[in-house]
Amino acid sequence: MLQIPEHKIPIIEIKTDFDVRIFIKREDLIHPTISGNKFWKLFFNVNQYLKPKPENPLIISFGGAFSNHIASVAGFGKEFGIPTVGIIRGNELENNWQRNPTLSEACENGMQFFFVSREDYQNKERLTQEFSDKYPDALIIPEGGSNEMAVEGVRYMLGNDTKDFDYLCTAVGTGGTIAGVSRFAEQHQNVIGIRVVKDDSLEKTISEWSGRNNFELMDAAENRYGKISDENIRFINWFYNEYKIPLDPIYTGKMMEMIFDLAEKKYFPKDSKILAFHTGGLQGIKGANLFLKNKGRERIAE
Ligand SMILES: *Cc1c(COP(=O)(O)O)cnc(C)c1O
Repeated sequence: MLQIPEHKIPIIEIKTDFDVRIFIKREDLIHPTISGNKFWKLFFNVNQYLKPKPENPLIISFGGAFSNHIASVAGFGKEFGIPTVGIIRGNELENNWQRNPTLSEACENGMQFFFVSREDYQNKERLTQEFSDKYPDALIIPEGGSNEMAVEGVRYMLGNDTKDFDYLCTAVGTGGTIAGVSRFAEQHQNVIGIRVVKDDSLEKTISEWSGRNNFELMDAAENRYGKISDENIRFINWFYNEYKIPLDPIYTGKMMEMIFDLAEKKYFPKDSKILAFHTGGLQGIKGANLFLKNKGRERIAE
């Protein structure tokens, strides 16, 4: 069993000229490699798995080459001494994954890779079956890390320090995080999820996990997963200059730009207190910059 770590995550006010108050909770600071929401989503899955004391514990999960979840699973394995396996999308990476910053760090943290073609990767059910036949005692965590236990873990992102806010905002990928925020929010709080992926089934999935209807989903300005706009890069760089808080280009940068946009359009009633969760993902900046550099585009300040 893993002990719930002592954690004190700062909430910082982002001073603006808007007629509302915006704050950010720095969940990205919880651990250097298992950042933000991924820490809590993994923690409860792994804890549950370790309860019956498996003889040869092993964690298996899925992800793309730049995945925060893959980086976090590898970091988790290293931190708690559990071997990890990553099933990675794209067999073209087989011979050159060393050049990918996410994968080379995951390897340093002890993760073993299996590369599968994009086609095979689509069929998660078959892959899961294959790996559970091969490693019957392993814990297999879905892509992105969201499931019932993950939602339970998000409870720890909320506490006495978050009770006062009128709005709780988070970026939405697979929906586990917003489902947890929604489930554990106070009665008076509104939950806003900024969707960075086109997925029409998200609303239903989140409702089922949350059991409440206190949340609203909005689409980020660019909601194709992994797509990075120049406008958002400029926002992220401006935000860093202004507040000295780094944002990632896949989730938190898009969320924060959206919150600023909403505040500017007077979506929130005057004097509202808005809390945005910084869910981490900063490891993705290196990979994004490699891509942007190859395209000759503006880069994210590192
Ligand atoms: C994974 C991730 C999210 C999305 O969390 P879900 O539970 O998949 O919706 C948000 N922000 C960051 C930085 C992430 O890595």
